[in-house]
Amino acid sequence: MTQNLIDPFARAITYLRLSVTDRCDFRCVYCMSENMSFLPKKELLTLEELDRLCSSFIQLGVKKLRITGGEPLVRRGIMTFFEAMSRHLDSGALDELTLTTNGSQLEKFAPQLAAAGVKRINVSLDTLDEAKFAEITRWGRLPQVLRGLDAAQSAGLRVKLNTVALKEFNEDELITLTQFCADRDMDLTFIEVMPMGDIGNENRLGQYWSLKDLRAELEKNYSVVDLTERTGGPARYLRLEETGQKIGLITPLSHNFCESCNRVRITCTGEIYTCLGQEGKSDLRQPLRDYPEDDHALEAAIRAAIAGKPKGHDFDYSRQELGGQMSRHMSHTGG
Ligand code: SAM
Ligand code: SF4
Repeated sequence: MTQNLIDPFARAITYLRLSVTDRCDFRCVYCMSENMSFLPKKELLTLEELDRLCSSFIQLGVKKLRITGGEPLVRRGIMTFFEAMSRHLDSGALDELTLTTNGSQLEKFAPQLAAAGVKRINVSLDTLDEAKFAEITRWGRLPQVLRGLDAAQSAGLRVKLNTVALKEFNEDELITLTQFCADRDMDLTFIEVMPMGDIGNENRLGQYWSLKDLRAELEKNYSVVDLTERTGGPARYLRLEETGQKIGLITPLSHNFCESCNRVRITCTGEIYTCLGQEGKSDLRQPLRDYPEDDHALEAAIRAAIAGKPKGHDFDYSRQELGGQMSRHMSHTGG
């Protein structure tokens, strides 16, 4: 029997977040610069390599697979990959196949995702105002995303909205967004903005709004109850008594969840990051490409990476750039 992935701190690795492309049809100001240069195609893992990689992780005990990007649904042929992954759901090896998307392609793909066994998705949406949406995403158009949400819900997918909390941008929409989700029976999670990559001087739209302040604002309008539920990640949950809604709060660089961290991230070029808050990575593409017919070297490289998973990201801030800034883009590791 294969031994599951357990890191040096006795944490079982059961959750893989995989970026399948660095490209995107939006240019959100906190994520990308307007003129991003993207990787040449040969650098990217092929769909077959993505399949081998995920299948190896699943064989080693990964139970939840989240596909992200860039925008995962702009990767050509990605539905073939989702359809292929559904075999692991059917066999019971995988519990959940899911994705994080900007929603722009959902109108087209929601039925296929549902058919492949996807049950829940995260859709990123920061504002319900068309002009503000165009401003924050630069290239995105709100009606297209709203149609995507409709399509997802019609296909039976459970939707959670992810909203980046931005001071003086969507502060005034806290209640509108909350009510929008309550009316549509969607969960809602707020994410604190992280300083990532070199995205130019866009700070006007990227101002930090602490989730502590956001929570205080919620308390002015609702009876807020803390939930003890944790998912091994940086999210904490609240319930609003009046609507019955669950609200998530994600403070990505807080370290109070490291002891239960169950996840690793892989980029579209096959780099594995075992901690979101540190720069440490290793390469899985070479063993994939050097041994196209044999997964032993890949498995050894996966085990070696897990053996080096840091205890937590509060232990080595010196490896980040000044001010806690991470040099890589969120679109590189997929958030
Ligand atoms: N394109 C997809 C999307 O937007 O959902 C998936 C990739 S995107 C990088 C994943 C998540 O990261 C999104 O919810 C996005 O809002 C979030 N994100 C991007 N840059 C961020 C930043 N600097 N701080 C916090 N969250 C960020
Ligand atoms: Fe694209 Fe998602 Fe980044 Fe926005 S947050 S630019 S949608 S990858």
